[in-house]
Amino acid sequence: MRSKSVWVDFKEIKEKVSMEEILDHYGLVKSLKRKQNELVGFCPIHDRKCQNKGCFCANTTKNNWHCFSCEAGGNVLDFVSLMEGVDIRQAGLLTQKWFGIVSGEDRKLAKEKEEVERPKRKEKEAANPPLTFKLKTLDFKHAYLKERGLKKETIKEFGLGYCKRGLMERRVVIPIHNEKGELIAYAGRYPGDPPKGELKYKLPPKFKKSLVVFNLNRVKDMGEDKGLILVEDFFDVFNLWQAGCKNVIALMGTSMSDEQERLIVEAVGEKGKIALMFDSGEAGKCGSQDALARLVSQVYVKLIKLGEGGLQPDSLSKEKINNLL
Ligand SMILES: [Zn+2]
Repeated sequence: MRSKSVWVDFKEIKEKVSMEEILDHYGLVKSLKRKQNELVGFCPIHDRKCQNKGCFCANTTKNNWHCFSCEAGGNVLDFVSLMEGVDIRQAGLLTQKWFGIVSGEDRKLAKEKEEVERPKRKEKEAANPPLTFKLKTLDFKHAYLKERGLKKETIKEFGLGYCKRGLMERRVVIPIHNEKGELIAYAGRYPGDPPKGELKYKLPPKFKKSLVVFNLNRVKDMGEDKGLILVEDFFDVFNLWQAGCKNVIALMGTSMSDEQERLIVEAVGEKGKIALMFDSGEAGKCGSQDALARLVSQVYVKLIKLGEGGLQPDSLSKEKINNLL
């Protein structure tokens, strides 16, 4: 921890702290006699009982000093060093502290730190707020849910349903919770191939998916024990979940953000386990390489390859999933 300044900026100290200020710091100015640009009197360095009244002389414009008795002398820092019985570096640190001087190097470090942390803080401040409403009258028996092979208990567990009108009109909605379990958004999946100009998934315009890991709220407590399986999409989660692999989470895409990385690592704990099960296509391969690079130094990562042929975890059989894991 570098809570205190460890860099000593000698040049800056010499520029900013005068000899008179240092003498004043020690309460010595009053005991010295001012003679133009000199302060003359007893030497505070050697024997303080020295009777030679005029042996010590500090120059207030040149910012140096000399004692004619003990032959000590030098600049501001030499003075502090002798007064405190420390080396020049320590003297520099003390002077910086007394006069509130931040060295150029520390300023640079502080600035760099700020630049790294500012965006992180911003993301944190702007977390997705919990929704103040809940979509009602959803059709839990819509044909699309059956088409995707979802069982009744899966639909119920994840609160899925077709929305006839409103926010996610004519889409199957998927409630999204933050890691604390607060409902923060609904994703809307177009049932089937969307018409031209429409996206497969619709998300609220202000929703930041980079701050959320889907299903983390349900698996948080098993992460440290069993590890987690990381997939791309909602339906991958649903399929694995109903195949018995409940410890599954999704990025809601192929790219992992810093915050998602943080949440995932935190959920499995130090030396935890994460199995990456991304689609076998190009995007999935890139995504899993990126996730691997992010996680490998922090947790144990297992890369699960689905083989060629565009396989996706959302359509694998229970047997196949269990073989792979
Ligand atoms: Zn002296």
